[in-house]
Amino acid sequence: MMCGLCKKGVEEVDHLFCTCMEAWVVWVKTIKWWGMEVVMPNTVKGVAEMFIYGIGSLVGKKMGACIFLVTAWYLWYRRNVLVFQREEDIKEQLLELIQVKTHFWVRNKVAGCAFSLVQWQSNLRECARELKWYKKSLKIFNQQQKCLQSSS
Ligand SMILES: [Zn+2]
Repeated sequence: MMCGLCKKGVEEVDHLFCTCMEAWVVWVKTIKWWGMEVVMPNTVKGVAEMFIYGIGSLVGKKMGACIFLVTAWYLWYRRNVLVFQREEDIKEQLLELIQVKTHFWVRNKVAGCAFSLVQWQSNLRECARELKWYKKSLKIFNQQQKCLQSSS
């Protein structure tokens, strides 16, 4: 079966989600937004690992995994848009759709996360740093609470 995105390559997992030029340009944009400077791998597994371990830190891993999953999901979504032709191509909106969805996910998953979409889109790494700070301060707060409880 021909690739639903480029109509050139064979539709295999590594092609559709990685080496296809249509997918590749989306990953490059997402990688740039995430602030990584890397060479694009040529397998999906490689891309996933790059997002999950690229930045380091637990928050970085979770955010990287979130961005990877949402981007892969939108590539599949666009593939279906092109194959079934029920709606207009979303090519130009892809990065923004990924940013909106990841912002929604993280805001709903992480208590105390109050970044605006604009902050999220314009400085994702700064948001990640603040999330890290938030987690650290939460840990200290919890430790303090435990100390207070055990001393009273
Ligand atoms: Zn393709």
